[in-house]
Amino acid sequence: MNTQISEPIFKALDESGKGAVTAKDIQSRLAQAGLSDDDPRLSALRDRLADCGNDPAKIIDAATFAEILQAGQSLVERAMKEELVIPQFSVFAEHLRTLFDEVKSNRSGDLASYIPQLARVEPEQFAVSVCTVDGQRLNLGDAGQLFSVQSSCKPILYCGALELCGGDYVHRHMGREPSGMSFNELSLNNAGLPHNPMINAGGIMSASLWHPELPMADRFDRLAHLIATLSGGSRPGFDNAIFHSERDTADRNFALAHYMREVGAFPRDTDIFKALELFFAACSVELTTERLANIAATFANGGICPPTGIRVFTDSTVKNCLSMMNSCGMYDYSGEFAFRVGMPAKSGVSGAIFAVVPNVLGIALWSPRIDSYGNSARGVAFLKRLVETFNFHNYDSLLDSQKLDPRARRQTIEANATFSAINAASRGDISELKRLVAYGHSLDRADYDGRTPLHLASVEGHVGAVRFLLAQGVEKEPLDRWENTPLADAQQAGHERIVELLARSKSVGTRGRSKGRKPKSEHRPRKAA
Ligand code: GLN
Repeated sequence: MNTQISEPIFKALDESGKGAVTAKDIQSRLAQAGLSDDDPRLSALRDRLADCGNDPAKIIDAATFAEILQAGQSLVERAMKEELVIPQFSVFAEHLRTLFDEVKSNRSGDLASYIPQLARVEPEQFAVSVCTVDGQRLNLGDAGQLFSVQSSCKPILYCGALELCGGDYVHRHMGREPSGMSFNELSLNNAGLPHNPMINAGGIMSASLWHPELPMADRFDRLAHLIATLSGGSRPGFDNAIFHSERDTADRNFALAHYMREVGAFPRDTDIFKALELFFAACSVELTTERLANIAATFANGGICPPTGIRVFTDSTVKNCLSMMNSCGMYDYSGEFAFRVGMPAKSGVSGAIFAVVPNVLGIALWSPRIDSYGNSARGVAFLKRLVETFNFHNYDSLLDSQKLDPRARRQTIEANATFSAINAASRGDISELKRLVAYGHSLDRADYDGRTPLHLASVEGHVGAVRFLLAQGVEKEPLDRWENTPLADAQQAGHERIVELLARSKSVGTRGRSKGRKPKSEHRPRKAA
């Protein structure tokens, strides 16, 4: 690895300035960026760290660090330079934790009662997981707990059908309009088709299109494999009790399938009982929010699963599915949800929801109490609070709002970096200065008055910051527009130790650009602008 890249990152990690970091420093920096220990993309890096002795406190020098960075490919470099899609992931995570705690006290809604097994789950459970398109992850609450996905399988069935049969064929058998009715309403559109793929009639239709030529076992096998790939992991679980419970109490779904068969909605030769079985089986697939968030992130990432880099769906399949989720994903609350939250999302009566911020992240929520529409009460409450805090609504980009944008851009960071460095120096904030070094930001940059971090640290008497800046090799005698050096500033302010430090350090020349410039005013600022 190019040491020009690795060196500044190494320096930023090297808090003590002793020319050494530990495996723990590296791991905690990656964790801060949202990259988990089990991230499959970091396996080479883990191996390289293990080669170093696997002792978290073992010292790693700059040359070894360069190799380790190389093993982590650009992902680690980007993480350390805060260039992932959510650069300050730990700050973002802190906000989500606060929202999570706040929403936890919401006990509205009831367990789904029409599927007996769902009526027996522990209602207090609550989980939120996030995965960004760069694979930064966060898990809150019961994120390791399995639940049946229920209707949140419908986007997967729909995408599967689109990939197998193409959009024209699929939409000869289902519409694209919200129904405005409940998810299992015994109703079809004017053409005698399910209103859309996100309600039960549409889910049964998608299931009928999923490899109808294969035996049932293979049809399910392929679906399980698809869900595994989408969620970046092993085969999902399956809740057999839910499956039987569903099937034995599914009068409405049977009625819907018979109705659709009667009016000729299915492709010819469809075995509706098999389609129903597959739909029930898909609803009985078990995932954790951690896995469901990976699926949501795959949708956010245009069909490529972020933690594995595997393309699962084409981008146009994903675009079509997100359009459907946006207009129809939250049952007869879809319009209100699109208005207030403005994210494509899909819910299930188990209390699962997954939602997508395209090109940024996927989020999965699970809490079993559902509202009168069949959507998780806490899930909806969380998403509402989320878009009040962050500009994740589809049309937030039109507003000049006070909402936070966690995906701050690098250009913005750079524009602010000069100001931040000067400001940090004036406060003596060495850790902020180190962070800026990690961005690759030069601590030599001056503001419009020619004031540099060294001027500010000197005039404010921050010995440690002056020492740090000198150790970084900044220019020692830059002239501001009043032709003052940091040394002159320190002398005037009476900071003897800094005067000594600066006088001792050898001059390496002055800033040509400010030399000979006439002062523009007699006013001379002491502090950062
Ligand atoms: N399995 C459920 C049903 O058939 C799916 C419905 C849902 O999650 N909204 O009723």
